[in-house]
Amino acid sequence: PSDADWLAHGRARKLIAHWGDWHEMRDRFVWDIPKAFNIAERCCDSWAALDPTRVALTHVAPDGTAHDWSFGALKDASDRLATVLRARGVQKGDRIAVLLGQGPEVLISHFAAYKLGAVVLPLFTLFGADALAYRLSDSGARIVVTEADSLPKLDEIRNDLPNLADVFTTTTSPGARDFWADIAAADPLPTPVNTLAEDPAVMIYTSGTTGPPKGVLHAHRFLLGHLPCVETYNEDFPQSGDKGWTPADWAWIGGLMDLALPFLYFGVPIVSHRMRKFDAAAAYALIADQKIRNLFLPPTALKLMRQSDAPPAGIDIRSIGSGGESLGAGLLDWSRDVLGAPVNEFYGQTECNLVLSSVAGAMAVKPGSMGQPVPGHEVAVIDADGTPCPPGRMGEIAVRAGDPVMFLRYWNLPDKTAAKFDGDWMRTGDLGVCDADGYFTFASRDDDVITSAGYRIGPSEVENCLQTHPDVAMAAVIGVPDPVRTEAVKAVVVLRDGAKQAGLADALIQLVRDRISPHVAPRYVEFVAELPMTATGKIMRRTLRE
Ligand code: ATP
Ligand code: MG
Repeated sequence: PSDADWLAHGRARKLIAHWGDWHEMRDRFVWDIPKAFNIAERCCDSWAALDPTRVALTHVAPDGTAHDWSFGALKDASDRLATVLRARGVQKGDRIAVLLGQGPEVLISHFAAYKLGAVVLPLFTLFGADALAYRLSDSGARIVVTEADSLPKLDEIRNDLPNLADVFTTTTSPGARDFWADIAAADPLPTPVNTLAEDPAVMIYTSGTTGPPKGVLHAHRFLLGHLPCVETYNEDFPQSGDKGWTPADWAWIGGLMDLALPFLYFGVPIVSHRMRKFDAAAAYALIADQKIRNLFLPPTALKLMRQSDAPPAGIDIRSIGSGGESLGAGLLDWSRDVLGAPVNEFYGQTECNLVLSSVAGAMAVKPGSMGQPVPGHEVAVIDADGTPCPPGRMGEIAVRAGDPVMFLRYWNLPDKTAAKFDGDWMRTGDLGVCDADGYFTFASRDDDVITSAGYRIGPSEVENCLQTHPDVAMAAVIGVPDPVRTEAVKAVVVLRDGAKQAGLADALIQLVRDRISPHVAPRYVEFVAELPMTATGKIMRRTLRE
């Protein structure tokens, strides 16, 4: 098929038929969730049937060499891996852990698992033995697909994992099955298992920002649930030349579902590359070399890019999504000026991702706000009784139950699952405000809220204000015990390279007093070299408090 045919197929899969005014798109939107649905069929096999040679993935190795993977090659390898896994006893519903950085093996493992109706458990390669033991044992995973480097960590814990039958490694290693040799020796699975849209497909553990991570079980339909947001942050999607990349590992919902799988659903090629630690110069080089046009960049990545040297000439970025943490107003202008594209901010959580979005081009962006409900999703700010709050009043952000992007349940935590729902709403555990125009502003996680002198203070607004100061690279705001005020506001600040500390604490306190209000201004400012972060780059305020 020609490029035009290919694009037409991608466009025909869109859930939003006409790009336009946000309200109109929302009013017209109707979900169309088929009863039978399988992620591998949609994201890989159906494209392979159309043109097996078309590039799905470009993998860029650490040394910079690039290797293309076609949809046909991914289909063939995943069909064979499915046969291998079936022969090892994998059945519908079994958990298959994928402990790998971005690359073709991740997609092949995902697709093979979906073809058997199994559940993929994405795991982050930098997890230590304890983190792995917790997730592998909690999920009862039967298979781990990993690389040789991770074997020592697994060997340490393997005796405590009675459900773990086989470990596959992507390079030949003693004590593990050989991923590629087994694929080469197997015949393709003759027919994939039929799955319903409602059948479990993926289990992702939350970031663990506020407590022990929870296994969040998702159905095949959650892919469809992500599409309205992906379609709108990439205006007029797909276009000829579109190519996606995210530095966020595919083990997290952001990397996997804000970019990787939805892009393949639309037949748009993606780039994979392993970055041990985010490096702005390397990111710019990759974007330029691979002609990447569509990005999902977590706020931390954007902040590091802003701090670094300007991007090289010749980058041509068409769309940028960001989310997972507060973005703040300061990055919007910078991105437009320096990266050449606006940042579209998203809000969601592992349990129900991509439900709010701030899309330049479809709505008047209010800097500092996360935007409005994405077409197809109903979001509100509710009070303790579950009643929607009037505009401007702070409450808990909630998503209407029954949303296709919503999780099925927490793994083995029926009480936590039940507690998450309140009548028609799923409570996010995040506090926010919705204004009269329907724009949502994030205040804080319920547990991060600061109670000071009778006020409830959300750290985000103060952090975002501090970040507008030219000497501030990153800021976290927490409450510290105070005999008079219950808690006092404290700012923990990382300075930009070359910034001088003298007099800055007072200047920052004054900035917040002037720009927001004296009652939320920090009483203490501490300067640190770095902030404690989760593997996803989220600030762990809990750790700072402790
Ligand atoms: P845990 O639930 O284990 O504490 P976590 O909530 O950090 O971990 P995730 O599901 O990865 O794990 O993160 C979702 C959370 O990230 C949201 O509930 C919200 O607190 C925060 N978040 C996401 N998008 C935004 C945004 N645009 N602005 C501010 N915060 C955001
Ligand atoms: Mg959470």
